[in-house]
Amino acid sequence: ALKAGIVGLPNVGKSTLFNAITQAGAESANYPFCTIDPNVGVVEVPDERLYKLVELVKPNNVVPTAFEFVDIAGLVAGASKGEGLGNKFLAHIREVDAIVHVVRCFQDENITHVSGKVDPLGDIATINMELILADIDSIDRRLERSKKNLKSGDKKVAQEVEVLERLKEALYEDKPARSLELTDDEKLLVRDLHLLTMKPILYATNVSESEAGDTEGNEYVQIVRKFAEAEGAEVVPISAKVEAEIAELEGEDKEMFLEELGLTESGLNRLIRAAYKLLGLYTYFTAGVQEVRAWTIRQGMKAPQAAGVIHTDFERGFIRAEVVSYDDLVAAGSMAVVKERGQLRLEGKEYVVRDGDVMHFRFNV
Ligand code: GDP
Repeated sequence: ALKAGIVGLPNVGKSTLFNAITQAGAESANYPFCTIDPNVGVVEVPDERLYKLVELVKPNNVVPTAFEFVDIAGLVAGASKGEGLGNKFLAHIREVDAIVHVVRCFQDENITHVSGKVDPLGDIATINMELILADIDSIDRRLERSKKNLKSGDKKVAQEVEVLERLKEALYEDKPARSLELTDDEKLLVRDLHLLTMKPILYATNVSESEAGDTEGNEYVQIVRKFAEAEGAEVVPISAKVEAEIAELEGEDKEMFLEELGLTESGLNRLIRAAYKLLGLYTYFTAGVQEVRAWTIRQGMKAPQAAGVIHTDFERGFIRAEVVSYDDLVAAGSMAVVKERGQLRLEGKEYVVRDGDVMHFRFNV
């Protein structure tokens, strides 16, 4: 499964946010999986479309889709030098598919800030520097090996060295690897390096409780927004402390609390959706009277692989898929009308599944 890792300097609110995530996950009773790793939090992906389909189909059972957040605490300045167990944390970041960087934007005299004052851009620079240094290290080691192989005259090796040099140059200029425009071929050449700064990133700006309803009034959030825009990264303002409180509530109590804050939904929901998008994930649905269910795929997956997410047999024996887009189904109001309108498509092995497709698979066992 794809995972988003939560990183940030100490005392920025990572644990508070992660606790809200695990609490929210624990309360979603209809989630069929569970995890025993305390650093992994499973969350449901909030998706209104699922509940619209439930209204149409009236199934016996509903199952949302989910994905994982990993808590990667302990990243500090000097991590790339192996200080403070630093290398272990960098290794954990290597394993995630996207990074959620929690940045402190709340003022609180009682809570020490590692650098003495609230300074979101300074914090971002500190963490980014560690990731960049770790990447330079990976690249240097690879370059040493590749350069030896250059003599063989292999064109691929020459190309690899060229890409590595280009990446290194960018990193030396404090630019993350993701900022470099690489072709698919070039990306493939360096993929197994799992460069930390190649991973997509979003900034979760943690504001104080009093600002939860109006996060944009926080000047630090604006500063981070400006920075992220230049990088092409997303910003999700959130109040970790408020999210922890929201996660404790259910049903009407939750609605009332959100309303008091002037929110239409929790910040956690926004964060989950943003992370899902960052991971390059799509949702498709199956909608039978037994069960309406959301399934997660990677963007670009073809019908057989998407079927394989349900069961490997579905992929192996795939014949074809009956597909209707979510919009067409909702507009039609029923599968019968979809068929009348000729909007139920038969798709084969090469069909690239779209976000929101409602699918029914035909397969051989
Ligand atoms: P971590 O070290 O990044 O995991 O940070 P924690 O989640 O442990 O938070 C550090 C301290 O900051 C704790 O005492 C939290 O209660 C507090 N904290 C977290 N978010 C907020 C916030 O939005 N406002 C205030 N006032 N305190 C917060």
